[in-house]
Amino acid sequence: MIITIDGKQCEAQYGEYILDVARRNNIFIPTLCHSDALPGQGNCRLCIVEVLEGKRRRVVVSCSYPVKGEVEVLTNTEKIRKMRKNLIRLLAAAAPDSDFMRDLQREYGLEEEERFQVYRGEDCILCGLCVRACEEVGIYAISTVNRGITKKVSTPYAEPSAVCIGCGACARVCPTGSIKMKEENGRREIWGKTFALLPCPGCGKPFITREELAYVQAKTGLEPAEILCEKCRQKRAARKMRDVFKDVTMK
Ligand code: SF4
Repeated sequence: MIITIDGKQCEAQYGEYILDVARRNNIFIPTLCHSDALPGQGNCRLCIVEVLEGKRRRVVVSCSYPVKGEVEVLTNTEKIRKMRKNLIRLLAAAAPDSDFMRDLQREYGLEEEERFQVYRGEDCILCGLCVRACEEVGIYAISTVNRGITKKVSTPYAEPSAVCIGCGACARVCPTGSIKMKEENGRREIWGKTFALLPCPGCGKPFITREELAYVQAKTGLEPAEILCEKCRQKRAARKMRDVFKDVTMK
């Protein structure tokens, strides 16, 4: 079906989220808690847009609003910009030292403004991506604890987690850089725990913790020699593609 986003006609599948349709058509909608690997969170609400369906006009969260008919979408109306500004003010107060938030403040003309009480130190906007990433890995080492202004993401009792494998998935998806992961001299530090890093069998670069390697092996049945760093995995995939292509063209 065809939907209109900011005047542009865009092809959309039934049930597809507006944000995905917009991105495919190079229409920018700001997001903070969206990850292609963990879609549809809708926590930061920055991706709000206006949807016009017949006589109905409403504000929806584009990362979790599925297309079900021929709608018109407006991503940057005065109303949306005003609402986004307020969201940015609140989020920036929670993560004042995040580069991503500073860029957004600049874009919306809010860089000089400090309307809300600023909480320095953690830069967490409680988007929940890290908790979901850890759940997707299958570990459940972190969760949100407490309520109200003391709500935060933590390991149980803020102690180094017994089950964390140091994979770093939580830190990699964090949009504000709130989860600190340090890598130095073949060691990785995260959530108060230090892990030794093992070398990639392809390039020799330290990349995986012993605990994560054991976990991946148990899950996939792969031999350690087959578990490569991302760069080597990409190289291997490109080589495979080249071989397939060569086979096809030689036939
Ligand atoms: S580093 Fe630990 S807490 Fe973070 S995703 Fe991996 S297992 Fe979970």
